[in-house]
Amino acid sequence: MGAKASIAKTLAANPGFSGKRREAPRARPADLLAVDLLAWYDRHRRNLPWRAPRGERADPYRVWLSEIMLQQTTVATVGPYFKRFLARYPNLRSLAEAPLDDVLAAWAGLGYYSRARNLHACARAVVERHGGNFPRSEAELASLPGIGPYTAAAIACIAFNEKTVPVDGNVERVLARLHRVAHELPRAKPELRELARELAEDVGIASRFGDFAQALMDLGATICRPRQPRCMICPWQAACLAKAQGDQESFPKKSAKREGNLRRGAAFVVSRRDGAVLVRKRQEKGLLGGMVEVPGSEWSADFNEAAALAFAPRVRGESGLAWRRLQGEVGHVFTHFPLELIVFVASIGLGARAPRGCRFLAPAEIARAAVPTLMIKVLAHAGVLPRRAL
Ligand code: SF4
Repeated sequence: MGAKASIAKTLAANPGFSGKRREAPRARPADLLAVDLLAWYDRHRRNLPWRAPRGERADPYRVWLSEIMLQQTTVATVGPYFKRFLARYPNLRSLAEAPLDDVLAAWAGLGYYSRARNLHACARAVVERHGGNFPRSEAELASLPGIGPYTAAAIACIAFNEKTVPVDGNVERVLARLHRVAHELPRAKPELRELARELAEDVGIASRFGDFAQALMDLGATICRPRQPRCMICPWQAACLAKAQGDQESFPKKSAKREGNLRRGAAFVVSRRDGAVLVRKRQEKGLLGGMVEVPGSEWSADFNEAAALAFAPRVRGESGLAWRRLQGEVGHVFTHFPLELIVFVASIGLGARAPRGCRFLAPAEIARAAVPTLMIKVLAHAGVLPRRAL
């Protein structure tokens, strides 16, 4: 089915649309939407550190790295991290050969550390299974660690010009508005993917699937913004059903969000006289897996602050630590739940020895260790790190 037909189908299925408007609009034939978008992209494409210069094929390693970094992180934040990471690991082999702890340390600050662990595992898998070259098919890419359907489609089309369209939140928004899709997300996802596929199908862009995908991403990020879309300079303004109706911001429709319950817990910051801090390594599996943390309690919705000191570490060579509860809490938001930690601090002498499973970490080592943002906040709250470390 062509894009023109799919617009008609969307109109027919769209109960909020008046009969008078149930005709595919307007000055520009729908079949030329992709061509219009590419012409716009050629003039207005964003200059991003991982993008190939105009007319050149993108490097799969850079595309992959940027797509993993961009999951749940903004372009503005990723930019400097990407450059630093690339300077440290300029190619897939250098990353595959690096120790995991070094990779986690280089990732620190980007959050969602399972991504870094998968990144490392994926680099090794590409070396072992594919001789160090990324496979080009979506299916083979999706079989690698940490590469889901979206990332597989992004690498396949941007790096190898495969005929596929990665559909992220930005692209969903553009298509939901263009077609005035009545179904709510996430139920509308298959329909939006189908609309994206049809757009790529309809026109003669065979040599530019990668550019088409990036053009859609740019359109969503810079023009069809969540609030106050810049429709007057949008290359699709003549065909956009939501613009015609004037209700752009009510698309995509979303079902009510269910956020996780607040979890609470305690963190214990033990400072040695030379400034070193007692830390341990989290379990490899799970949230912040393998990262460095100060000792603490479990995080739970029914955390009992009165019993918090039961989780305090026992430091060998010290007969009972004088714990002080700091005022306030450290807040952090994970994907599935918000967290609040209360922080206890204590000081110890140079002769103290770390309990089993823990070690002392000098402040100068913190920047090189795999310390997640949550723990940086805890250490700043305790005065071990300056607040500007956040
Ligand atoms: S016309 Fe406006 S709402 Fe429609 S796709 Fe363009 S920016 Fe988005």
